[in-house]
Amino acid sequence: MTVTPEIGVIGLGTMGANLALNIAEAGHPIAVFNRTPEKTFAFAESAGALSERIVPTESLEAFVAALASPRRILLMVPAGDAVEEQIAALRPLLDAGDILIDGGNSDWQDSTRRHAELGRDGLHFLGLGVSGGAEGARHGPSMMAGGSERAYEAVAPILRDIAARFDGEPCVAYLGSGGAGHFVKTVHNGIEYADMQMIAEVYGLMRDGQGRAMPDMAGVFARWNAGPLESYLIEITVEVLGTSDPETGKPILSVIADRAGQKGTGRWTVMDAQRRAAPLPAVEAAVTARVLSGEGAWRSKGAQLFPDPAAGAIGPLSDEQLEQALLAGKILAYSQGFALLAKAAREEEWSMSLPDVARIWRAGCIIRSGLLDDMATALESAEMDLLAFAPAFSERLTQTLPALRATVAAATLSGLPAPALSSALGHFDLLRQARGTADLIQGLRDRFGAHGFERLDRPGEPGQHGPWTG
Ligand code: NAP
Repeated sequence: MTVTPEIGVIGLGTMGANLALNIAEAGHPIAVFNRTPEKTFAFAESAGALSERIVPTESLEAFVAALASPRRILLMVPAGDAVEEQIAALRPLLDAGDILIDGGNSDWQDSTRRHAELGRDGLHFLGLGVSGGAEGARHGPSMMAGGSERAYEAVAPILRDIAARFDGEPCVAYLGSGGAGHFVKTVHNGIEYADMQMIAEVYGLMRDGQGRAMPDMAGVFARWNAGPLESYLIEITVEVLGTSDPETGKPILSVIADRAGQKGTGRWTVMDAQRRAAPLPAVEAAVTARVLSGEGAWRSKGAQLFPDPAAGAIGPLSDEQLEQALLAGKILAYSQGFALLAKAAREEEWSMSLPDVARIWRAGCIIRSGLLDDMATALESAEMDLLAFAPAFSERLTQTLPALRATVAAATLSGLPAPALSSALGHFDLLRQARGTADLIQGLRDRFGAHGFERLDRPGEPGQHGPWTG
């Protein structure tokens, strides 16, 4: 049977191959190309019944020629040079009106540039953040689109068919021009860092502060997964805590090195947040914790010089308190993340709405959770773009903050690290202090550098000075 592919995928690695199968399964004929041709044909052969909708091609020219016009091409190659090289190779083969989609984890600023550059040749560019890993790509990812709105409209029917669904709604949305989609994906990953770090901190308090065994902790997280913390990350925490190492029979975590990897999206989020003056201390703490996890020599020396308190030193924190602390920390971290998105959208003139972002994160992506459904509703009416101030969430925070304070205090007193939980709390305490302490900062700045300040009794008149002498 001859089919005319509606779309083509370049790059048949983990993500590209799974997305191609997903697209074919959704009924859309697809052309595929990989720089190593053997992989292209092996992929098509391994696709079983779906192979009748898959057209393998062995050159870029054949790939482009196979596609219906206007061409829709999805790049699934590593971000950076590989995307740049592929676009350069494709450009002379394409016609005005063709659509290029970059579905990798590209830097959003590269996507902004590519949208503008390709637009000058009449090509439409879409920067598509794809979340959900291999499984999501195969059975339904969450997708964050940015760039040409026309391009989005042209590919939306396919994207909707392959996306994860929450209550029947596909988890894909157009979020604004240029790099909006890749920016939202980056912040998604930043939030993922904070979410995972907070889970790891609570695990650490239970393991080192209460001396609890892995199966016991797996049971606690499993109970939490049936409540307001229900989420993919908690679900897989239960699995990881409850898994044994086949070689030694010990819990798998007892044989995994305590050194976390990172590919950079957490750090990008933090750098962008600081640049925009929309700080995300929970994500910063998570990035820092991953960095320090790699400083094994420092940590060994530190442990020697300043010994840990004995297990059990954390005191009588109940599982319910730990659950509430995690919930409060999570709400605060997400509140920080959505505030960054709101500020970036204003500054970059992106059309995204925060409720839409929460909605497309409800399924398919790594941070998917029941709470995101409530967040989508709450963000419709969030005051000053702060989820923490939206009524449904300010109530939850009022209920859970005492447990977060108790947990952070207990961790601090026993010397166990909880940097993401405590910095989320510190940020929030700054936000709820109507009269802060920056009066002293301004006094000091004026005293040493004549930077000037504003008087409370003369608002709108900066540049006042104190009667300092010397
Ligand atoms: P992968 O498994 O390493 O596959 C990379 C693909 O790109 C392979 O087909 C490879 O071809 C091709 N490629 C590499 N360098 C190339 C170049 N210079 N020119 C042309 N083709 C090149 O990667 P992946 O995990 O699928 O990731 C693809 C993108 O999706 C990345 O941006 C990644 O960050 C993003 N992403 C990944 C995940 C995940 O969970 N893996 C989740 C979301 C997003 P060969 O077969 O010839 O090597």
